[in-house]
Amino acid sequence: MSTYTVLNPATEAPVAKVPSTTVAETDAAIARAVAAWPAWRAVAPGDRAAVLRRFAAAVDSDLDNLAGLEVTGAGHTIGNARWEAGNVRDVLTYYSAAPERLFGRQIPVPGGVDITFAEPVGVVGLIVPWNFPMPILGWGLAPALAAGNPVVAKPAELTPLAAMRIAELALAAGIPEGVFQVLPGKGSVVGQRLVDHPAVRKIVFTGSTEVGKQIMAGCARHVKRLTLELGGKSANIVFADSDLEQAAATAPYAVFDNAGQDCCARSRILVQRSVFDRFMELLEPAVRGVTVGDPASPATQMGPLISAAHRERVAAYVPEGAPVAFRGSAPGGPGFWFPPTVLAPVRADDPVWTQEVFGPVVAVMPFEDEADAIALANDSPYGLSGSIWTRDVGRALRVARAVETGNLSVNSHSSVRYWTPFGGFKQSGLGRELGPDALSAFTETKNVFIAA
Ligand code: NAP
Ligand code: MG
Repeated sequence: MSTYTVLNPATEAPVAKVPSTTVAETDAAIARAVAAWPAWRAVAPGDRAAVLRRFAAAVDSDLDNLAGLEVTGAGHTIGNARWEAGNVRDVLTYYSAAPERLFGRQIPVPGGVDITFAEPVGVVGLIVPWNFPMPILGWGLAPALAAGNPVVAKPAELTPLAAMRIAELALAAGIPEGVFQVLPGKGSVVGQRLVDHPAVRKIVFTGSTEVGKQIMAGCARHVKRLTLELGGKSANIVFADSDLEQAAATAPYAVFDNAGQDCCARSRILVQRSVFDRFMELLEPAVRGVTVGDPASPATQMGPLISAAHRERVAAYVPEGAPVAFRGSAPGGPGFWFPPTVLAPVRADDPVWTQEVFGPVVAVMPFEDEADAIALANDSPYGLSGSIWTRDVGRALRVARAVETGNLSVNSHSSVRYWTPFGGFKQSGLGRELGPDALSAFTETKNVFIAA
């Protein structure tokens, strides 16, 4: 069996050897999922709920271990990694309530009775990126299982360890064999096969917009159901009437968390011109104050980038002579480190302003008024997330309605709450995850008329 090595991004030391799944092995896993489906969908709703709660409890009891895998295998800070493992537990618990509440409707019609059923869609192929390996796995896995579907998951090649452990926990908790499988390996092999295989009825993909477009085209051949969570270039819009201290103190964490490898990163800061200089004065100490270093240390706020190749990609956005306003620190020596970096002034056609960097780099630009802020924020093919800082509640609502993005927060930087829908406008995605409606992405509506 061929294998590859997972590296610790903070030290470049090898962490684990992992099997590289082949196309034939992927087909065998899909066949096992197909075989497991009838029994899984037939599990009584209360029993399916109970096994999901046992699965959540198993994740909870393994939380330290899972978090440790993400610290050494993905470079996540221990604080983030614990939150991420807890998120898997919470999302499993949230959707464990779903099997007993998968209601259909009774619709008044002449000549009989009409009822609808939410039928499971079938085998779900879940393709996960390396930036949030655990939460993104959980957001697809939990509602898919709750709705009665088997799941074949492909973690990112760089970060398979937590997903592999979660699959063991699922089995131990009583999720039947074949209902949840994790296939580490290459996107071009395993991921592509999930897209191409006719028995996979639905793809949930999170990753780059570029690969997402290819997957959408591949799914079209089978009219395969598809959820896409793609890139972002989100705006953090700071009005002159806001709590400027708070806006500046929190802005670094809205973009440098997870070393900027966050699709919701507020990587464009828009500041009203009248307070621009003051904002920059406040932002500088906040950026220099970000603690960058050993992800295993509880005090660390930012760890390394995922890989040497990714660091090179990020560094290309900050070439010699780039307009660096100020920078934070980063360790020297081994590890894929990159310091928090603030660029200003930048041109509106600078790649650092228009493209997703996916690293700890943010650009700041002034705006004149509300209309200007909205136009700048919307001048992007992306529309995933964003923040609005103002004390004027009317303005907050007007701007929130006008910005073309799926997830906005006012006077905070929250994007993801598992109780609420998450997803993108425009090229940031298709469909929504999480929240009360995510089940509908894993079910087909069946309408039945009974003459009476
Ligand atoms: P990526 O290259 O698009 O990869 C994502 C996943 O797709 C990986 O598991 C990858 O496998 C797999 N893949 C690659 N090529 C494939 C193919 N031809 N067919 C099927 N699967 C394939 O993205 P990434 O570099 O891992 O992640 C960074 C990107 O993800 C960023 O652009 C970011 O914005 C986006 N992202 C979006 C969200 C969101 O919710 N909107 C969340 C997180 C990340 P390999 O590991 O083998 O490449
Ligand atoms: Mg990639």
